[in-house]
Amino acid sequence: MKAKTLVIYVKYHFECCSCGKKYYNQKFMYLCSECEQTNTNDSPPKGVLKTLYEYKKLSSDFLLFEKNNYLDLLPIENKASFPKLKIGQTPLYQYNEFNHEKLKFSLYLKDDSQNPTFSFKDRAYSFVSAYAKENNIKTIVTASTGNAGSSLAGICASQNQKAIIYVPKSAPKAKLIQIKMYGAELRTVDGTYDKAFDLSIEASNKNGWFNRNTAYNPFTIEGKKVVSFEIFSQLDYKIPDNIFVPVGDGVIISGVFKGFYYYYSRHTISKMPNIIAVQSENSRNIIANINKSTFVSEKSCTIADSISVDIPRNFYLCKNYIKKYQTDFLTVSDKYIIEASFFK
Ligand SMILES: *Cc1c(COP(=O)(O)O)cnc(C)c1O
Repeated sequence: MKAKTLVIYVKYHFECCSCGKKYYNQKFMYLCSECEQTNTNDSPPKGVLKTLYEYKKLSSDFLLFEKNNYLDLLPIENKASFPKLKIGQTPLYQYNEFNHEKLKFSLYLKDDSQNPTFSFKDRAYSFVSAYAKENNIKTIVTASTGNAGSSLAGICASQNQKAIIYVPKSAPKAKLIQIKMYGAELRTVDGTYDKAFDLSIEASNKNGWFNRNTAYNPFTIEGKKVVSFEIFSQLDYKIPDNIFVPVGDGVIISGVFKGFYYYYSRHTISKMPNIIAVQSENSRNIIANINKSTFVSEKSCTIADSISVDIPRNFYLCKNYIKKYQTDFLTVSDKYIIEASFFK
C-alpha cells in the first residue's frame, strides 16, 4: 500500500534560537531535536524554539487592537479555549512623584500581581492550558520554585485539567499551600529546582503529559509577549523609552522583546524600546554571563525567590535579544529590593 503524506497547515513554525534550524508543519515540539542532544545538566539548554507566524497574512495592527484580539499572533485557534478567569489586561499606573519628589519623567507600573494567582506567570499558563484543551491533553506538569506551580495549579483548576507540580524542598511554604488549595498534585523533590526540572520532563515523557516548564515549552514565551501589546495600547500607541523587567530564567523579558519586535518588524514603531534586564546581585546568572564565552554559574541566594536561578533556562534567547538591540542591564541589592517592596 502506498503511504500517504498528511500535511497539516499550521499558522506558525518553529525556529531554533541556537542553530537556526526551522521546523515547518509541526504542531508542537519542545526543544530543537538536534541541539537538545548536546545539552548537559550544568549549563543553560541550547535549542529553545521561537514560534514564528505568517505575519504578512494579518490584518492591520490597529484592527487587532480594536478587537482586543490577538489570536492571529498566537498558537491558539479559539478564544473559548482560554480560562474564563480574567488574565492580563492589568492596570498601568502612572506616578508623577517618587519618595515625595517630583519626577522629571513619566513613570508607570504595570501591575501583574492582579492576575488571578497573583503573578505574571498566569499569562503563560493560560496559553499552555488553552493549547492542551484544544489538543485533548488532560494533564499538565511543571517544575517550579513556587509562582509557576501556583499559577499552573490555579489555571488548571479553572479548566478542569490536572496539574502535577514538582518543587524543590526549599520552595516557600505559602506557595506550596496555594498549590495544594487549588487541588494540584504536589511532588516534593529532595534536591534543587534543576533536579525538579529534569524529573518533571522524565515524567511527562513517560506518561504523555504536557510539560510546561519555562523555556522548554515554547508557548510560555507566547503568553508573555502579550504584555507588550497591552503596554503599547495603554500608552496610546507610544513606545516607552525604558522598560525594566525582573529577570530569572529570562522568559518574561524575551516575551517583552518579542512583543515589541512584532511592531518593529511591521514598521508600526521606528525603534525598539530599551528593555532593561534587572537581576538581584545575589542571583545574576544572565547578566554575569552576557559577555562571557563560556557560561559559569554562580550559586544564587536572593530574597526574591521567583528570580533566584542558578541555570537560566532561556539564557541564549535572552542574551541574543540583549546583544542584538544593545539594551541595558543592571543588578540591585537585596536590601534595595526589600526597601522597594514598601514603595508607596
Ligand atoms: C517568574 C517570575 C519572574 C522571572 O521570570 P523569568 O521568565 O523566569 O525571567 C519575575 N517576577 C516574578 C514575580 C516571577 O514570578
